[in-house]
Amino acid sequence: MGIATINPATGETIKTFEPLNSESIEAKLALAQRAFESYRKTPMTQRSQWLNAAADILERDKVSFGKIMTLEMGKTLKSAIAEAEKCALVCRYYAEHAPEFLADVPATTDASKSFVRYQPLGLILAVMPWNFPFWQVFRFAAPALMAGNVGLLKHASNVPQCALAIEEILAQAGFPEGVFQTLLIGANQVKAVVSDPRVKAATLTGSEPAGASLAATAGEQLKKTVLELGGSDPFIVLESADLDAAVSTAVTARLINNGQSCIAAKRFIVVDAIADEFERRLVEKYQVLKIGDPMDENTDVGPLATPGILEDLDKLVQICIEKGSKVLIGGKPLSDRPGNFYPPTILSNFPPGTPADDEEFFGPVALLFRVKDMEEAIAKANSTSFGLGASAWTTNEDEAERLIEEIEAGAVFINGMVKSDPRLPFGGIKRSGYGRELAIQGIHEFVNVKTVWVK
Ligand code: NAP
Repeated sequence: MGIATINPATGETIKTFEPLNSESIEAKLALAQRAFESYRKTPMTQRSQWLNAAADILERDKVSFGKIMTLEMGKTLKSAIAEAEKCALVCRYYAEHAPEFLADVPATTDASKSFVRYQPLGLILAVMPWNFPFWQVFRFAAPALMAGNVGLLKHASNVPQCALAIEEILAQAGFPEGVFQTLLIGANQVKAVVSDPRVKAATLTGSEPAGASLAATAGEQLKKTVLELGGSDPFIVLESADLDAAVSTAVTARLINNGQSCIAAKRFIVVDAIADEFERRLVEKYQVLKIGDPMDENTDVGPLATPGILEDLDKLVQICIEKGSKVLIGGKPLSDRPGNFYPPTILSNFPPGTPADDEEFFGPVALLFRVKDMEEAIAKANSTSFGLGASAWTTNEDEAERLIEEIEAGAVFINGMVKSDPRLPFGGIKRSGYGRELAIQGIHEFVNVKTVWVK
C-alpha cells in the first residue's frame, strides 16, 4: 500500500503522496541532528511555552484537525475532536510537570554531593499507528520534546495528512526547525532510519510483527526501544457488579474508535449467575446503534480504517462461526454500501481452537465467555499471550484486591473502562510490549539517567 488518504467511508482515494527518497531522508536527519545540538540547550521554561502554544492551536482548530482524522481513518468526528482536545491536555500536562520530573534527584552517598541528572538522548524515531492518529503522536512528542530530544515521525501510511498537520502544529507553536519532523516513508524504509547512528532510540505503537521487526533492528544497533503493541483485553463481570453500569460501559469499551483500540475490551468474561442477563442487555444495546457516515454527529459506529482491517477481522469471525460459535448479532460485513463497514457483532460459545483463544479482534466484535466463578474468570483473563489492560466489575473489596493482584496486564481498572490518562503510566506486559508512556515513567524512557558523584 502506498502513502495515501483514502476515505474509509467511501473507498475514494483523495490524495496520494510520494515516499521520501534516501537523499531527502538524509537531509531531514542532518537537519534533526543540527536542531538537537542547539535545542538541547533551550531552557525548560521555553519548551513549556512552545508546548502550551501547541495546546492552544490544538484547541483552537480542533474541528479542522478532527475532520482530517475522520477523513483519513473513519473515526466519528465527535471522537476525533475529543482526541484533539486530549492532545492539548497531554501538552499542557508535560509543559507543567516536566520541570519537576526532570529535576536533579539528590542521593546520600560517600560523596560530598551526588545526584541523578536527566539528559536528552538525541534523535528519537516514533513509528505510529493510524487508530488514534493525533493522540499516539502527541503522547510521544510532548514528553520527548520537553526532555530536550528531537522527534522523527514515521506515521502509518493511511494518515499522511494527519502526520503533516502535526508537524505543522509544532512548528507554528514555535519549536525550532528540525525539532519535530514527519518522514513520509513506507514501513520498508524504517530499518535504514533506525540503523542511522544519529538516531538514538525508537518507539513503535502497532502490531506485534512491526514491533518485533523494529526491535530486531534496534537490537542489532544496541538502541533502546519502547513498544506499545496489541491487546485482547478482558472485561470481567462478577456477580456483585453493578450490572447497569457494567453493560453500558461494555458497549463503549468495545466500540470506542469503531472497535479499533488496543485497549478496547475484547473478551467479556461473565460469571454464570448473571451471564444470561448481561448477554440480553448487551444485545439490546447493540441493536439500537447507528452505523454510518462518521462525519454525522448521530453516528455511533463508523467504518473500519482500511479494507485490509475489515478482511482480517471478518476472517477471524468466520473461523469462529465455522468452528461452532454462536452469532448473537452482526457477523458479516455490510455489503449494501461502499466503504469498510462492519456491524457491531457479538459472538458466544467458543469451542477450543477458535481465534477467540488468542487473537486480537481489531474491530467492533465482542467475544462473550461464561465462567463458573472468579477463579475461572482470572484464569481466562490471563490465558492469552497479551497483557495490555483489563477492566473488572465487582462491588466486593476483597474480590477487587484479588483481581488487581492476579490479572496479568499493564493496567487494571476496577468498575471502569480502561483508558489512557496523562497522569498515569500506559503500557503492556507479555506480547503487548514493554516500556511505558505518559506520567513520570513516560518521560524517563528516552533520557540518559546520569549519575553524578562529586568529592
Ligand atoms: P501496524 O501495521 O503494525 O502499523 C503500525 C505502524 O508500524 C505503521 O506506521 C506502519 O507503517 C509501521 N510498520 C508496519 N510494519 C512495519 C515493519 N515491519 N517495520 C517498521 N514499521 C512497520 O499496526 P496496525 O495493524 O495498523 O495497527 C493496529 C495494531 O496496533 C493493533 O495490534 C493495536 O492493538 C496496536 N495498537 C497498540 C497500541 C498501544 O498503545 N499498545 C495503541 C494503538 C494500536 P505502514 O502504515 O506504512 O505499514
